[in-house]
Amino acid sequence: MFMYCNFCHAPKDRGIRLGGKFLCQECEKILTHLTAANPVYSFIVKRFRNFLFKYQ
Ligand SMILES: [Zn+2]
Repeated sequence: MFMYCNFCHAPKDRGIRLGGKFLCQECEKILTHLTAANPVYSFIVKRFRNFLFKYQ
């Protein structure tokens, strides 16, 4: 059964649930391996904060 990832908005069948939201395995991997040296770090962190807090 597919679920829509709240982070990349793609239908995925693997991932984790966080506070009633769904995070796919790919996004989880991106977030767990992300470092501040990565040029997209601030963008991803901002987006992830929105994902966690904005839409509750
Ligand atoms: Zn995703």
